[in-house]
Amino acid sequence: MKIYLDIDGVFLDTKEYKQMPHLKEFLNKVFDVSKGEVYWLSTHTKHGENDIAFYHLEDIDKDILEMIKDIKNTKWDTLKTEGIDTDSEFLWFDDVIFQAEYNFLESIGKEHCLVKVKDNLDEMIEYLNDIKNDV
Ligand SMILES: [Mg+2]
Repeated sequence: MKIYLDIDGVFLDTKEYKQMPHLKEFLNKVFDVSKGEVYWLSTHTKHGENDIAFYHLEDIDKDILEMIKDIKNTKWDTLKTEGIDTDSEFLWFDDVIFQAEYNFLESIGKEHCLVKVKDNLDEMIEYLNDIKNDV
């Protein structure tokens, strides 16, 4: 399964832009469940490169930085959903999305693939544990 990750609101909290609690554990689980099929899906990476992402993430733990070098790039223009391979099984972790993005997911019956993050990566770890136990 492919897993797509937003940055602000998932890696960093949106108040002080500090590393989110439980981030390392969450990412370990993401890499595990996706078998390494992890993709950036952030406005910082829409140009298909991770340079700006790493600029924003420069203060996070060194071992996490090492881990996320393996996250793959996506390119999109207007909507994040353009960057998703919707023919494959996927999960998309994000804190805030546009209505048009939700409408698109709904139109293809994939709205359940969106997972809303609300400062709760600990709960997201539980969610991924449940998914792993189901497959
Ligand atoms: Mg966000």
